[in-house]
Amino acid sequence: MITDIECQQVWQEISNYIEGDLDAELRSRVERHLNECRPCAAVLEGAQNVIRLVGEKRAFQVPVGFSERLYQRVAAEIAEEERRIVESVDTTRNHGRK
Ligand SMILES: [Zn+2]
Repeated sequence: MITDIECQQVWQEISNYIEGDLDAELRSRVERHLNECRPCAAVLEGAQNVIRLVGEKRAFQVPVGFSERLYQRVAAEIAEEERRIVESVDTTRNHGRK
């Protein structure tokens, strides 16, 4: 199966995916996965919003210290969202196997 790609791999590649940095094969795998996997589609949407937000803030030339703090807050929020998704995925897997 071509679409056999782990959620974790999609998350690792998500910023490269948004920036168009993936090679064609990996990109199409990620795209297919995103079409079929709701949590990953939510992660993509969240990441795109964050990037748009950070991009807008940068356009206003906020002080370096401020944008660093903003970036860290945003990164923490993404990590938190991913952690929740990982937990829900793990729970599903445990139910299936045990
Ligand atoms: Zn997924």
